Amino acid sequence: MASTPKLFLSGSFSYPYPVKDQVKVKKCNYLTTCMVNQQVTIKTAYKLSDRSPERSGVSTTDLSFNRYMNDEEKGVIKNGYFSTIGTFNDVFSDGERINDAQVSTYSSRSLLDGRFVISILSFCSREGCLELGKRYHALIIKNGIGDDQFVGTSLVDMYAKCRDMDSAVRLINHMPFLDVSSCNCLISGYANSGLFDEAFSFFMKLDTLGVRPNHYTYSSMLALCGSVLAIEEGKQVHAQIVKTQHSSKTSVYNGLLTLYTKCGMMKDAESLFESLVHRDVISWTAMINGWRQHGGFRKALRLVCLMREGGVDPNEYTYTVALASCASMKNLDCGCMFHAQVLKLGMALGDFVGTSIVNMYSRLGKICDAIKQLKEMGKMASNISWNAQIAGLVHNGKATEAVEAFNEMVKNDAACDEFTYSIILKACSLLPSLATCEQVHSLLVKTKFESNIHVGSSLIEAYNNSGSMEDAEKVFSRMSKADVVALNSMIKAYSQNGYPRKAIILFQKMVEEGIKPTNISFLAVLSACSHSGLVQEGHKLFESMKKDYGIQPEETHYSCMVDLMGRAGQLENALDFINNLPIKPTAPIWRPLLAACRWHSNLRMAEFVAKKILHLDPKDGTVYVILSNMYTEAGKHLDAENQRKLMTLEEAAKEPGCSWIEVDNKIYRFFSRDKSHPAMPKVYEKLKQVKQQMENIEQTPYGKEDIILHHSEKLAVCFGLISLPAKKQIRVFKNLRVCRDCHSFMKYISKIAEKEIVLRDNYRFHHFKQGSCSCGDYW
Ligand code: ZN
Ligand code: ZN
Repeated sequence: MASTPKLFLSGSFSYPYPVKDQVKVKKCNYLTTCMVNQQVTIKTAYKLSDRSPERSGVSTTDLSFNRYMNDEEKGVIKNGYFSTIGTFNDVFSDGERINDAQVSTYSSRSLLDGRFVISILSFCSREGCLELGKRYHALIIKNGIGDDQFVGTSLVDMYAKCRDMDSAVRLINHMPFLDVSSCNCLISGYANSGLFDEAFSFFMKLDTLGVRPNHYTYSSMLALCGSVLAIEEGKQVHAQIVKTQHSSKTSVYNGLLTLYTKCGMMKDAESLFESLVHRDVISWTAMINGWRQHGGFRKALRLVCLMREGGVDPNEYTYTVALASCASMKNLDCGCMFHAQVLKLGMALGDFVGTSIVNMYSRLGKICDAIKQLKEMGKMASNISWNAQIAGLVHNGKATEAVEAFNEMVKNDAACDEFTYSIILKACSLLPSLATCEQVHSLLVKTKFESNIHVGSSLIEAYNNSGSMEDAEKVFSRMSKADVVALNSMIKAYSQNGYPRKAIILFQKMVEEGIKPTNISFLAVLSACSHSGLVQEGHKLFESMKKDYGIQPEETHYSCMVDLMGRAGQLENALDFINNLPIKPTAPIWRPLLAACRWHSNLRMAEFVAKKILHLDPKDGTVYVILSNMYTEAGKHLDAENQRKLMTLEEAAKEPGCSWIEVDNKIYRFFSRDKSHPAMPKVYEKLKQVKQQMENIEQTPYGKEDIILHHSEKLAVCFGLISLPAKKQIRVFKNLRVCRDCHSFMKYISKIAEKEIVLRDNYRFHHFKQGSCSCGDYW
């Protein structure tokens, strides 16, 4: 009996592509024919059950657990013609075996006999063919075999799996004899439909219905409690398990372990684990994964060693957990050791473990090793492995390499999913590259992911970061139903690009439509208020954020409020606001006040604020620069000079300015006074020409030192002027905030060359058009 293969097509199986009902019916007919020859059916069954369930996303650690629990551990009720009679008896009624007389009754019947009907119903459950199932149900009633216990259970299972819970309950209520198998089917159905409360109250009612739960019932209930972290209910199930003496069954105590570890009750899990006489790979792995999930990485790794010492071999899932723990601990040596172990065991190239290795190396910044692993996996590498690789590159700031890996992935015909597109669009944002963004978008149009809400939000963000608010707006307007993430991206885009009104209107619309704003929505709309001088509106929103939505303001919100008041010239109010904050003011909260002091020429307060900032961040070079400029403007040249000296003394250097521009799908970087690029002589020539034209209009000489004239953004824009087609916008990105001279220079160019210039500095977007800027000259 032990050697009999278990051939079930259990409910967890799913086709990679949805099958049209018609095809299902055809298949069913085919199956009917096949059933005449049992050999063929068994083969088919084998083939089908070999296929793994679909997965998505990058994390394999959480998803894969079920795959390594055998069917028995899952506690899923299985039935069907595909089992040999022996296994059929074993599993179907758990302990209540059908006697041989019953078996022979079954096999002697015609095509409409019990077993045949059961196999048809099992097919319907698996494929979700509710209509077909209903038709067979009618046939069953007509032929008077509906009262058969096994047929009845199959019917409950079919309705439950097709999520027609009302019909399943109706059947249960009318069963002449209610057995535990039918109850298990109903509980599984509730669980699959996400109806936890219904499942739990039905479970509690079993006693009054005269049904004794078996270990499948308990395992299912424990798994269900674990999945919704319902620890109180879980404890009640545990109590029942002890009372009914089921706690010695492996699947039950493993279920308990998983429940406690999932709910973070590691102490209880540990004492349960200690008390176990027989610990199998699932018990060990449940504990190991529990520690990993709750940050006990060292403990998790120690358990892996103990497990091996105890003579239990880790399985692939254990290794994925171990590798993930190494990555979280930033322990490369340990990671390499596990890599070596899985290599020896021949597990390293499988999808699960292989992807975990890619993930581990990526997270530890060992990009070359991650790429090597992916290469070795070759065709075995699934989209999840590729996703791990691309995500690793993006998180390590290697956006260009991420785009290259993405191209490889597409070339390798690996199926890109929602996650792939979201992460590659993040790379586009980082670059930023409008051309790549457009390419990814054109790929997206051909897939079903164009309408995916997460991908859409990432696309809006990527277009916005690449300097094309128009494209962002287009994507947004095409979304059938925008969620809060998409809305936030769009509000932010409006606010950053000089459309504060649009940002505020969209925010209001979002609130009116009943979508709850998040802290990011508030940040975006507060910044919009600040840019449009809506001080009162801003204060109101800030209050409502706490009062109506219970969102605690963070440093960024406080900083935004200081900016709001500062811009409007309410310097004293801003200072009061900072002094009355519930948190200790930080440098980012003080900084906008210094900018406002400069803007409103309040040197006295600027000196005070500068001291505060330098106390918190002595290396902040911009503070010296601002003060020095303010002294110069006030004619205090000696003080200005002192600031410059102090700056060198404190070694508070500014990060070197760098600007970049994309021409013909290539990104060109420029540093201040750059001479490296072969086109530089032409660039300087253009710069000289523009300066000349400016002086002609102003009728005064430019009068600034070369160091200012040769700022990187001026070079990048001039490169754009000589290398981009006449009608194309110039988009330049800069790592620092744009200086006043460059800002007015850009305004001139937009007028002289009749060019639209988009300049993104590390703070906001500037759209220069016809001699003026979208920021209203305050940035
Ligand atoms: Zn500049
Ligand atoms: Zn501007």
